[in-house]
Amino acid sequence: MKRVEAVPAVFKGKMGYNIKVNDPRATLQDYIDAVEMFISGSGCFRSRKPELETCYGCDLCCQERIPVTMVDVFNLTGPNVEEAFKKFLHVYVDRRVVDITMALDGRGKCIFLDNTKGTCTVYNMRPLVCRTFICCPSTGGAKKLREEIVNTGEDELVRSWFLTGENGITPIIHEGVSPSPDISDYPPTPFARTRDYNKIRIKDVCSPQTWKRLTTTNK
Ligand code: SF4
Ligand code: SF4
Repeated sequence: MKRVEAVPAVFKGKMGYNIKVNDPRATLQDYIDAVEMFISGSGCFRSRKPELETCYGCDLCCQERIPVTMVDVFNLTGPNVEEAFKKFLHVYVDRRVVDITMALDGRGKCIFLDNTKGTCTVYNMRPLVCRTFICCPSTGGAKKLREEIVNTGEDELVRSWFLTGENGITPIIHEGVSPSPDISDYPPTPFARTRDYNKIRIKDVCSPQTWKRLTTTNK
């Protein structure tokens, strides 16, 4: 039995999915693999483009807020995080809250989108949030898991953003409202120890409530 399974679930007649975790050692990579396999093979309902059988050539979800994790940035650029902030990330600071997302182009689309083909130019290295999204229904547990992983991974990226500032100078901010960020709001997370989704356990990232939902039959 796989350590994580994305299993079909039907919502008002539409095919969606639930996530089941079968082993406490399951990692974020196990989760990503399970969702990707489900997306490619299930024939699940695509609410934004119901006529499509695959996502190929549809770019509707590449033009919204795209949060990024520490591991995603490492996969895209290697250890030079500072370059990533200059080249493809967007840092928005609202008072003490820091939000780091993929930069959008002048038309509001992800800068890695090929606007002619409607496909991703960094497909093999695309962020977790892209790998695990499909516009089909999913259970509350599946939604919470994805949200908690992305938030934790983004918090670690915010922490590393603070560390790119030198001699007390605030790091690069692309947009802000009275920015007053404070690193004490961003303590180290399980993403601090590694840059590999294979080495981060789901159990260490998700809340006890979400873990319970994923490891029992409830949804
Ligand atoms: S990284 Fe690729 S899949 Fe993700 S939003 Fe950008 S273009 Fe779309
Ligand atoms: S998941 Fe994204 S790419 Fe696929 S059909 Fe839905 S909006 Fe389009």
